[in-house]
Amino acid sequence: MNKSDIIEITKANNIYPNKSLGQSFLFNPSIIDKIIIASEISKDDKILEIGPGLGALTKELLSAAGSVTAVEIDSGLVRILRQELGEYDNIRIVHADFLKIDLQDQFTKVVSNLPYSSASEILFCIAEKYKIKELYIMLQKEMAERIVSTPGSKSYGALTVTLGLYYDPRILFNIDSKSFYPEPDVISSFIKLIYNEDNDLSKEEVVLFHKVVRSVFWGRRKRLLKVLSVSPHLKLPLNLLNEIFYKINIDKNIRGENLDVQDFKYLVKNINIAIKEECITL
Ligand code: SAM
Repeated sequence: MNKSDIIEITKANNIYPNKSLGQSFLFNPSIIDKIIIASEISKDDKILEIGPGLGALTKELLSAAGSVTAVEIDSGLVRILRQELGEYDNIRIVHADFLKIDLQDQFTKVVSNLPYSSASEILFCIAEKYKIKELYIMLQKEMAERIVSTPGSKSYGALTVTLGLYYDPRILFNIDSKSFYPEPDVISSFIKLIYNEDNDLSKEEVVLFHKVVRSVFWGRRKRLLKVLSVSPHLKLPLNLLNEIFYKINIDKNIRGENLDVQDFKYLVKNINIAIKEECITL
């Protein structure tokens, strides 16, 4: 599928790319090849693709993998996919909003060019609901940089830390906007995320982890001690925080944006112990 095929198919089917659904279709065959190689796909793989669009990437995934489940929200695109991919017996096309369904299958990998406007919600949904081991994802370069960012840098934020609880991320390569139709205003990046098996937080601690992370980046210029006592997400008594900071030897003047994921986990475990001892409900 090249650019003129995409224009022709969309015109013939009265499809007008919908910006709010992030509809920008990848057609550059050398980038599609690069994605297939980088994702190390074999016939043992059961792939989940979110947002197959017109199916240019899906076709190559179908040739390389054991099976592909492709979830597409747009009924016009689903109609085209059913026509275009009808010859394959290893595809399942699901017409749905990925954020609103419960897939029962087990997948080995996600390979997707995500709609940029809902990419972070989709990533959290994959992480928390499906726990798929390997993700190969295309998204906006600026978002990829936030995901791989390090403590203290400008792009380090709630997205970095929350996703970092589940996955170890790496940027594989960038793709310029000319590989898509319509051309997006941004450069894209292809990233790899490997599930972090040593996430030892309990469900209860994960809930607290989210509250702590939201609090820290709600008040990123404030000191950690202060922010945990005044944020709208968590109001812990100052004396309790002082005791916890003393016990685990955290500098009272530190800002939360300087903590890495392991530091956040350690802090959360200790807050959880302390609030249980004091019978505090949040
Ligand atoms: N994979 C195709 C490609 O690379 O050319 C299309 C990628 S396009 C960036 C994003 C696709 O995700 C669109 O086809 C859009 O309709 C679909 N989409 C957007 N939101 C979705 C959702 N919540 N669930 C499933 N698909 C969605």
